[in-house]
Amino acid sequence: MHTLWLAEIGADDLDRVGGKAASLGELAGAGLPVPSAFVVSAGTYRAFIEDTGIEAALFDAVDVDSDDSAALAGAAERAQELILETEVPTAVREDVLSAYDEMGDGPVAVRSSATAEDLPDASFAGQQDTYLNVERADLLDRVKECWASLFTQRAIYYRNEQGFAHDAVDIAVVVQEMVDAEKSGVLFTSHPSTGEPTAIVEAAWGLGEAVVSGTVSPDNYVLDRESGEVTKVTVAEKRVMCVRGEDGQTVERSVPDEKRDAQVLDEGELARLLELGERVEAHYGSPQDVEWAIYDGELYLLQSRPITTIDDPVEAAGSGASADGGAMADQSEDVRLSGIGSSPGKATGAVRVVHKLDNLDKVEQGDIIVTEMTTPDMVPAMKRAAGLVTDQGGMTSHAAIVSRELGVPAVVGTDDATDRLRDGQPVTIDGDMGTVQVGKREGATDESGDGTAAAPSADARAPTDQQPSPVKPMTGTEVKVNVSIPEAAERAAATGADGVGLLRIEHMILSTDKTPARYVEDHGERAYVDEIVEGVRGVAEAFYPRPVRVRTLDAPSDEFRQLQGGEDEPAEHNPMLGYRGVRRSLDRPEEFELELRAFARLYELGYDNVELMLPLVTDAEDVLRAKSLMQEAGIDPEKRDWGVMVETPASALGIEKLCEAGIDFASFGTNDLTQYTLAVDRNNGNVADRFDELHPAVLDLMGRVIATCREHGVATSICGQAASKPEMVQFLVDEGVSSISANIDAVRDVQHEVKRVEQRLLLESVR
Ligand code: PEP
Ligand code: MG
Repeated sequence: MHTLWLAEIGADDLDRVGGKAASLGELAGAGLPVPSAFVVSAGTYRAFIEDTGIEAALFDAVDVDSDDSAALAGAAERAQELILETEVPTAVREDVLSAYDEMGDGPVAVRSSATAEDLPDASFAGQQDTYLNVERADLLDRVKECWASLFTQRAIYYRNEQGFAHDAVDIAVVVQEMVDAEKSGVLFTSHPSTGEPTAIVEAAWGLGEAVVSGTVSPDNYVLDRESGEVTKVTVAEKRVMCVRGEDGQTVERSVPDEKRDAQVLDEGELARLLELGERVEAHYGSPQDVEWAIYDGELYLLQSRPITTIDDPVEAAGSGASADGGAMADQSEDVRLSGIGSSPGKATGAVRVVHKLDNLDKVEQGDIIVTEMTTPDMVPAMKRAAGLVTDQGGMTSHAAIVSRELGVPAVVGTDDATDRLRDGQPVTIDGDMGTVQVGKREGATDESGDGTAAAPSADARAPTDQQPSPVKPMTGTEVKVNVSIPEAAERAAATGADGVGLLRIEHMILSTDKTPARYVEDHGERAYVDEIVEGVRGVAEAFYPRPVRVRTLDAPSDEFRQLQGGEDEPAEHNPMLGYRGVRRSLDRPEEFELELRAFARLYELGYDNVELMLPLVTDAEDVLRAKSLMQEAGIDPEKRDWGVMVETPASALGIEKLCEAGIDFASFGTNDLTQYTLAVDRNNGNVADRFDELHPAVLDLMGRVIATCREHGVATSICGQAASKPEMVQFLVDEGVSSISANIDAVRDVQHEVKRVEQRLLLESVR
C-alpha cells in the first residue's frame, strides 16, 4: 500500500509519514474530530525515485557546490524536472486515486510533510507547499510538486550548509478533505499567559484565513473551565470574511448586514469547544493552541500546537518568598543601584563582574553579568546569564537590544555597578524598574538564561484595569518585530509578528571581532559574503514568507575601532555625526558591494521575502547612488522591495525627492531622528532627560513624511525604540502609518494598542 489513513498513524510514525501527518494522525487516533485525510507515505516517494530509475540522476544533479549560484540554480531545475516529468507508476496512481475516491469526491488540500522534523521545518521540504481545492484530475501532479519541493534552491542550499545528505530526507504528502468552514477561529485551552484554567476562544465567520491573516477582528469569548461558564463575551464588528471563490481560491467578501454584529458562537458551540479543549489538553498533557472550524454543524480540529507563552507565575512568585522566609524588606532601603530597566523581568543570581578582556567562560548558567558595556562577543555568555547589569548605555545600546532579544532581564546605565558589586554576591535585578538589590527578592527567578525568567509584565505598559487579552489581536496596521542577533530569530517569529521591520546586520559583523576590511583580508571576499548570507538566511527562513527588512551596515566608527583592524578606522570626535550608515557605504563601494552581493545571493536562493533598507540617508543623492550600486551588484530595484530609514531631519524634509527616487518604503529610526532633531546625543547620560521621541518637533517631521509617502504610494513604518510607546503607536496609527516594528518583548502590547486605536478610528468614522 502506498497510502495510509490517519487512523493508522501516530506520533511515532515520523519516518513513515513526516511530522505534519504524524501529528494529524495522533489527533485522529485520540478520537478527535480531524477532517478525513490519507497520506502518501514517505516510502512511496522513495519507491518512486528508485523504481523509475531517476534516483542516481537526481542525487547526481544536486551534488554541486551550493555557493556557486549558477550551479545551484541548474541543480534545482534539473532535479525538479526529473521528478515532474517522470510518470507516477501505475500502482501508486491507483492507490492514491482509490483512496481519494473512498474519501469522497470533493476538493482536497495537498500538503508536504517532511521526515526530518528535527530541523526547522520550512527549510527542508518546502513545507509551505500547500495546494488548496485540488480536484481529482490534478491530484497526482500536486503530489509530485510536493515531492519536487524537496529540491528547491533553498532546500538544497540548506541541506548542504547543515551537512545533511540529500538522500537522507524523504517526504510524505497529506491529502485532506477541504472544510468549507462557516465559522472558524482559535481556542486556547488554558490562559495563554498565566496558564490558569480559563479557555479563550476567538471566532469569525467563514474560513480561518480571515482570522489568521488579521483581516477581521474576531469575537472573543472567555470560559471558566471549572464551572463551564462563559464569563465574558466580546462581539466584534465583522466587516469581511474569507470564503472559497468559484475558482477555488480564497476570496474576501463583505459580511451580510445581519451577521456583522451578530455573535458567531452560541452557548452550545462554546460548550462543544470547551469539551474539545479538555480532550486535546488531556491527550497532550499540556495547554494547547487549537485551530478549529465549524462546517455543516460539525466541529473540526484543524491543528493543535503547545502554547509556549505561559509564564510560571506560581514558581516565580513562590521561589523568592520562600527563600526569604516570606520576609520582604522595604525595597527603598536596600536598592543598591538604579539604572534604566531595559529588558523586562526579574532575576536573581550571583554577580559575575566581567571586564572587557576577561575570560567570559567564568559566566555560568544563571549568573548576573555585571560589566561596563557589552560587546558582540559577549552574546554567548549573555545567553547563559540570568540577567545583565551595565555601567553605561541607554535603551538603544547593544546591551539593551541584545538582552531584550534574548529575553534576559537587564538594567543598563547604572554608572558604577562594576565598582560597587562583588563577584559571587547574590543580587536581584528588576528589568522593569531598573533596580539592582543585594540578595534574593520576591518575584525573581533563578536559573533563567533560557529566556523564561523574562516574564514581560504586560501591565508595565498597559493600564491595570484594562489588561490586554493575551490572544494575538488582528490589526489592519501591520505589527512587525526588530531583530539584531540571528539567535533571536525563532523567538521573534514566535511572537506572531507580521514580519521583521529591522534586521541590523552590524551585530553579525561585529561578532566576528573584525572590521569588514580585516575580515576580507584574513578570509577573503567570499567568506565575508557568506557570513552575511548565513546570518540573514536564518532570520529570513524563520519568517518566510513574511517580509524581513534587512538594513545595510550601520555601525559608528568607535564600535569598529574596538575590533581587530580597528586601528585603520577613523578616530572621530563625534562618531554619531560621522562616518556611519550609507555615508560609509558610499565612501567604500568595494566593501558595500560585498553586502549587496549577499542580498543578490539571498534572492537567488529564493528568499524573496528579504527587503533592503538603507540607513542614515541624508537626501535623494545618497539614495540614487546606492540604487545604482544595487543595480551593478545584480539587484533589480524594480523587482525587489527596498527603502530607506528616515533618521535625519534632512531626509524627512526631503522625503518627496526620496519617494521620486523609487523607494518602496520609509521607516522612521526614531533613535537617530530624535537625537539629530533635538541635538541630544542618544548615548549621553547628561542630556538623557531631554531625549524625547514624542517631542512636537519630531512628531511634526514624522507626520509630514507619512502624508507625503501616502501621496506617492510609499509605505511607512517605524523601527526605533519609540515604537514600544503607546503614545507613539497612537500618533502613528492616527496618521496612517503602514506598519510598526517593535522589540520582541513589546510586540504583543503593540498589537493590542494598535487594535484599540484602529477600533476608535472606526467608531469615529461611523459616528
Ligand atoms: C534608529 O535610529 O531608530 C534605529 C532603529 O537605528 P539604530 O538604533 O540602529 O541606530
Ligand atoms: Mg539609527
